Amino acid sequence: MRRMLERRSIRTVPISVLLLLAAAGPAVSATAPSGPPTAVGLGGAAATVERLATDAAMEALRLGGNAVDGAVVAAAVLGVTEPFSAGIGGGGFMVIHRASDGLVTTIDHREKAPAAMGPTSFFVNGRPLAFNDARYSGLSAGVPGTVAGWATALERYGTFSLSQALRPATHLAARGFVIDQVFFDQVRGNVDFFDDIPASARLFLDADGTPRDVGTVFYNPDLARTYARIGALGPAGFYRGPVADAIVNAVTRPPVGPLANHTWRPGVMTAADLAAYTAPERAPTRVGYRGYDVYGMGPPSSGGSTVGEALNILEGFNLRGMSREHVLHLFLEASRLAFADRNAYVADPEYFDVPLAGLLSDGFAAQRRASITDRAAVSPVPPGDPFPFDGGASAGEASATVVRTGSTTHLTVSDRHGNVVSYTFTIESTGGNGIVVPGYGFLLNNELTDFNFDSTTHPNRVEGGKRPRSSMAPTIVLRDGAPFVAVGSPGGSMIITTVLQVLVERIDLGTPLPAAIAAPRASQRNTAQTSAEPAFIASPEAQALRGRGHLFTSTPEIGAATAIEFLDDDRVLAAAEPVRRGGGSARVELPRP
Ligand code: GLU
Repeated sequence: MRRMLERRSIRTVPISVLLLLAAAGPAVSATAPSGPPTAVGLGGAAATVERLATDAAMEALRLGGNAVDGAVVAAAVLGVTEPFSAGIGGGGFMVIHRASDGLVTTIDHREKAPAAMGPTSFFVNGRPLAFNDARYSGLSAGVPGTVAGWATALERYGTFSLSQALRPATHLAARGFVIDQVFFDQVRGNVDFFDDIPASARLFLDADGTPRDVGTVFYNPDLARTYARIGALGPAGFYRGPVADAIVNAVTRPPVGPLANHTWRPGVMTAADLAAYTAPERAPTRVGYRGYDVYGMGPPSSGGSTVGEALNILEGFNLRGMSREHVLHLFLEASRLAFADRNAYVADPEYFDVPLAGLLSDGFAAQRRASITDRAAVSPVPPGDPFPFDGGASAGEASATVVRTGSTTHLTVSDRHGNVVSYTFTIESTGGNGIVVPGYGFLLNNELTDFNFDSTTHPNRVEGGKRPRSSMAPTIVLRDGAPFVAVGSPGGSMIITTVLQVLVERIDLGTPLPAAIAAPRASQRNTAQTSAEPAFIASPEAQALRGRGHLFTSTPEIGAATAIEFLDDDRVLAAAEPVRRGGGSARVELPRP
C-alpha cells in the first residue's frame, strides 16, 4: 500500500520537474573508479564492476532497502557508467534468495525476437550474414527486457518503487561522471560504427570523431530524462509511448548519417512487440554438490544447466586428494562434455523441449563422466543423450554451435537479513548493436546474434517471439538452506567456465574467494584448443596439462567475476575482480576485517 501511494504521488510530478531535481547540484567530479576489490564485515554487502554502482547499492541498503532494491539501484547506475556492457536497451537474468522462507527464484528478462522474425531473418541471398553485418543492424536488436525485469523484481521482492530505485542513476546521468580508461577503450573499439549513427556519435564521440577523452565529464541528459520517465510512469514509460516508438524507429529505420561507411540492415520490431514484453519468473536450476545446493539460471540461459552438469560430472571424482593439475584436467574435461550438451540441447524452453531434468541428472552425469580419461579428449566431442534420463525419447543428434565472446556485467548484493541477489545483465557485444536510440540516451542490444542465426534447424534458431540462448550464469550456493556464496561474471560463453572455475577453486581446492576470483583462468567449450589467460599458459599446471594433450590458445582476459561469501562467524566477504576489465569494487556495511 505504501508503495502504491508513493507511486501515485510520483505520477503527479511532471517529468520536467524530476529532471530539474536530478540536474540540480554541482557538476559532479565523481569518477567511475574501481576498488577496493575486497571487503569483509557485518551487514549487507555489494560487489560490482565499479565504485559508483557499489556505492549506490550500499546507500540503498543504508536507507533500509533490501538486496533486491540495492541490486536494481546499482544496475541502473551501471546503465549510466557502463553503457557499453548493459542498460535498459538490453536484458538479463536475476537470481534471488529470500531469507524469510529460503525461496530461490529467478527473473528472466532476456530480450525477445520480434514476432515477425524467422529462421532466415539473418540470411541474404540464401546465405547467413557475417557476424558484424548481423550485429550492427536493426535486425540484431531483441525487444529489451531490463526495465520489465527491474519492475518485476522490485514489485515482487523489493521494497523500493521503480522511481526510487532509478533516482541515484538519474542524478548521475544528469550530473555526469569522469570518463576513465575502460570507458574510453570501449568507445574506441566502436568508433568506426558509432560514427555512422549521429545519435551514437553525439553521445560518445567528440566533435573531431574521436572518443571523449579520459578525465573529461560524461553527461547523458537524454538517459536521465528516460529514467525519470520510467520512474514516473513505470514500465509503460518504456514499453509504450514515445520511448517505444523511438525504439521501433531506430530498429526499423536505423538512424544512419549521410557519411556512413557500413550497411545497417533494418529490423522488423513493432510497437506490439514492445507492448507484449513480459519478464517471467522461473524456477532456478539446482544441483547438489558436495553438500551444497547450487542454484542457477535455467533456459533460455544455458548457465545453470551447464555449470550444474559439469559439477555433477566432477562430483564423481575425489578432487580433494588430487594435485591441482589433475583437478584442472578434470575441470576442463567436465566443461568440454557439458558444453557439447549445452550446444545441442539448450534453447528457449517455450520453443524447444529442453531436456533439463536429464541434463541435470546424476545418471546422465555418470554416463558422461565414464568417457573421461587421463588424457584430454579431442574436441568437438559429440553430445550425449540426456533424454533417457529425462523421461522421454531421444531427440536425435543436434548440431554444434559457434562460441564467441562478448561483454556484460555482473553484480552481487546481499542485505543484513540474508537476502541475496546474483544478477547478470547485458546488451551482448561491447556497444550492443551500436545504435543509440535518438533522444533517449541508451544503446540497443544485439542479443539476437546469440541465436544460431546461421541455422534453420538448430533448437536455438531464430523464431518470432523467442529468446536467444544465453550463457549468463548468476549463481547462488546455499549450505543447509543458508547462503554460502553468490557469484557470476561477464564473458560470453566463458561466463560458464568462469563461474565453474571459481566454484571448483573455492569448494574443491579450498582457495579463499578473492584468490579464487583472481586465479588465472582457462575455458574449455568443446573446441580443439582451450582458451587460457597468459598467466595460466605460463603456469606449471599448464605445462603438465599439455602432457595430457591439452592445447591452449591465449586470451588476454577471461571473465570478471563479482561474488559474496557468507563466512561462519556471521561476517560477510564481498569480492570483486581485482584486475580484469580495470577491476571492480566491493563493500560491506560494517567493515570488520
Ligand atoms: N549475450 C551473452 C549471453 O547472454 C552475454 C555476453 C557477454 O557476456 O559477453 O550469453
